[in-house]
Amino acid sequence: MQEKIQNLRTEIKEKLENTKTLKDLTELKNIYLSKKGPITELMSHMKDLDNEEKKEFGKIMNEFKTDISNSFDSLKNKIEEYELNKKLESEKIDINLPSTVIKNGSPNIDEAIIEDAEKFFISMGYDVVEGPEIELDKYNFEMLNLPKEHPARDAQDTFYLKDETYLLRSQTSPVQIREMLSKKGEEPVRMICPGKTYRRENTDMTHEQEFCQIEGLVIDKNISLSDLKGTFNAFIKHMFGENVEARFRPSYYPFTEPSVEMDMSCPNCDGSGCSMCKPKGWITICGGGMVHPNVLRACGYDPEIWQGFAFGAAAERIGMLKYGISDIRMIHQNDLRNDRNLDRKETNN
Ligand SMILES: [Zn+2]
Repeated sequence: MQEKIQNLRTEIKEKLENTKTLKDLTELKNIYLSKKGPITELMSHMKDLDNEEKKEFGKIMNEFKTDISNSFDSLKNKIEEYELNKKLESEKIDINLPSTVIKNGSPNIDEAIIEDAEKFFISMGYDVVEGPEIELDKYNFEMLNLPKEHPARDAQDTFYLKDETYLLRSQTSPVQIREMLSKKGEEPVRMICPGKTYRRENTDMTHEQEFCQIEGLVIDKNISLSDLKGTFNAFIKHMFGENVEARFRPSYYPFTEPSVEMDMSCPNCDGSGCSMCKPKGWITICGGGMVHPNVLRACGYDPEIWQGFAFGAAAERIGMLKYGISDIRMIHQNDLRNDRNLDRKETNN
């Protein structure tokens, strides 16, 4: 009998060890602890025993039943605890506030265009040179073949300081004058000097009192207008893509001779004519030409030995064409709604 009890105990404990759910536990309980189960069946042997044996057997069976019942209860608690934890874990709510999305800044149009242009010209062996925005009249006009009272000064009227020998530079060309003077007429020059310039303008969609120029200068021996055309052609292809073509038209500037207007074929319609090129198929980007002998001489270069070309464009004009901006004033104002428009435009591209 003792052996039977022990075997049943082992059998039940083994089954309990492999039970993982409350459903399985209930089924097991129905098998072993029901009125028709093996424990009740064992108890039925009580009637065959004498009094002394009954007492002993009753004690053993009580202890056995308590043990089995405790094992069932303890497993039930364990399973319930496990299932509760599982449920809590799956229903866990993250109560942390989401962080504020910080929008990354992006470069201003001028900055983006100037950086791009610098990258191009540096790759061609140019230096990037800076100069002061408050400039001497002498460097801004006189040494560029624009003596006082020269009528072409009107087209570049600017703001003067009390001492009229100083002004806010109307172009970045004085940086070229400074650079040439520093070379004392003895060394070649290959430079761009992007930076802020000022004009006394009535502002409108295409004119601002403050804008950025990207000017370049090359002084060397055996330089010709075809070098300028090749450089301009490569520059516009870098900025607007391989499809654009370069075209020169004769023009006039006091500091270059001959002077040219430098056009590119319209990137919007490939030259067939549209509202952007109004509808000529060509858009003027730069002005330039061969450096005037008077300018070379003023800076100590012998025009019989040295030649050079110079060119200039407004970063705003390139940016407006590249990003489809209709009003130059949008580039410098602080209206965030327009910034968003620019973001969209950039993303679309
Ligand atoms: Zn066009």
